[in-house]
Amino acid sequence: ESARLDERTPASAALYARARQTLSGGVASSYQVRDPWPIYLERGEGSAVWDVDGNRMVDFHNGFGSMVQGHAHPAITEAVTARITRGTHFAAPTEDAVVVGEELKRRWGLPRWRYVNSGSEATMDAIRIARALTGRDTIVKVFGSYHGHHDYVMVSIGVPYGEIGDRDDLASLPYGAGIPQSSVDMTIPVPFNDAPAMERRIERLIAEGRKPAAVIMEAAMMNLGIVLPEPGYLEAVREITRRHGIVLIFDEVKTGLCIAAGGATERFGVTPDMVTLAKALGGGLPLGAIGGTEEVFEAVESGKVYQVGTYNGNPLGVAAARASLEKVLTPEAYAHLDALNEHMVTGCQAVIEEFGLPGYAVGVASKGCVTFAPEKIVDYESFKKYQDGELADLAWLYNMNRGVFMTPGREEEWTLSVQHTIADCDVFIDAFAQLAADLTR
Ligand code: PMP
Repeated sequence: ESARLDERTPASAALYARARQTLSGGVASSYQVRDPWPIYLERGEGSAVWDVDGNRMVDFHNGFGSMVQGHAHPAITEAVTARITRGTHFAAPTEDAVVVGEELKRRWGLPRWRYVNSGSEATMDAIRIARALTGRDTIVKVFGSYHGHHDYVMVSIGVPYGEIGDRDDLASLPYGAGIPQSSVDMTIPVPFNDAPAMERRIERLIAEGRKPAAVIMEAAMMNLGIVLPEPGYLEAVREITRRHGIVLIFDEVKTGLCIAAGGATERFGVTPDMVTLAKALGGGLPLGAIGGTEEVFEAVESGKVYQVGTYNGNPLGVAAARASLEKVLTPEAYAHLDALNEHMVTGCQAVIEEFGLPGYAVGVASKGCVTFAPEKIVDYESFKKYQDGELADLAWLYNMNRGVFMTPGREEEWTLSVQHTIADCDVFIDAFAQLAADLTR
């Protein structure tokens, strides 16, 4: 399979050799690195992308989940084109910014909003606002969760199995070098799907005089494949944080606009104090948002904390978001995504059962994955213990060689777009069936 990929992608290989002379590692972001070389893309339309070798692939990567609208959606192209000819940047608010805010308020049931340009900015600002509001420094996060690339949250991600620590005292470790120890020490990880462990950790922090400002988490983990919340877990977290006066932040950079019109908040029926959005919000343009209660945003409105940025609410981004929310990500779109994902999950699960593979398929609306593991993954510890990374790598190769474009990492999930069809899903299921057949031959 490796040789086949080499043969299919000589132009990517050549561009990689050239890129390395200029771009560090030949890529724009470390998450674009992939052996033997990154696949350089040339264009996207609907559910498909074309690489620089002219290979057409059905896109299940979808910009790490940003392109739920599919590529070059006519409604978004039209809105962005109209905006371009009327000026693209003012650093002054436009009407679209207001309309998008009103729609987010309606979908999330949170009354106040601000914009940023990425998921990292959203989580950074949300945490700062929670710290300003409470006057406290410590934050609690879920072990293994990714919330962006700033110091507050680059903690306890990608940790090897032996270094995770005890369930009640998980290790705070920097994710890569360059993160100040003081920042790492302020970020306390707890296991997913274990509300009692979270409460014990919070009580210990309070006893030590380090009451947390916030708990930041994804309602469903989206970077270990997909780990859904067990029944009652989110409700318990909501109750614990409320009782202790700790700001609950749902990081919906991945789930928001991907798993329901009102994200995980709607899908699971638990409303946090703050949410962070990015990725699919901008319909392919860089746009993020922070939503919250009036009480939380009083910290901003009173001038206690600055939530700022030259490009916040940039006209192109909010024009794309408005078109996306009004014309593309409609209730019918989510019904279509649910039906597609049902087909994906059922199809992959049937392959798993037919060939007796160690794994299972899981999905919700536009997001799903096959997890190669003999046991159900419920948190980071079980992911590290059970996930078969070599199988995940092999699946990537099989996909790429059969016209299925997937994220380069072992830990990502598929993202479907509203422009995908059942036939597109069958390309994925067929590639998976070939992998399963060859593995068990
Ligand atoms: N939060 C979550 C849950 C994410 O998945 C990501 C990106 N994968 C981020 C935040 C950071 O977003 P960005 O890459 O736009 O900074």
